[in-house]
Amino acid sequence: MTDTEAEPETPIETSAGTEACEHPETEQREGKTHCRACARQLYL
Ligand SMILES: [Zn+2]
Repeated sequence: MTDTEAEPETPIETSAGTEACEHPETEQREGKTHCRACARQLYL
């Protein structure tokens, strides 16, 4: 039997800044909804 192809090591991507935020608190700014935790604009 042939050997299986050696898979290259794939390091686990730990991209900082892309934390999963569930936006528990939101605030209105100029008619737009922003998350108070991550300050992102939410498109509802
Ligand atoms: Zn958020």
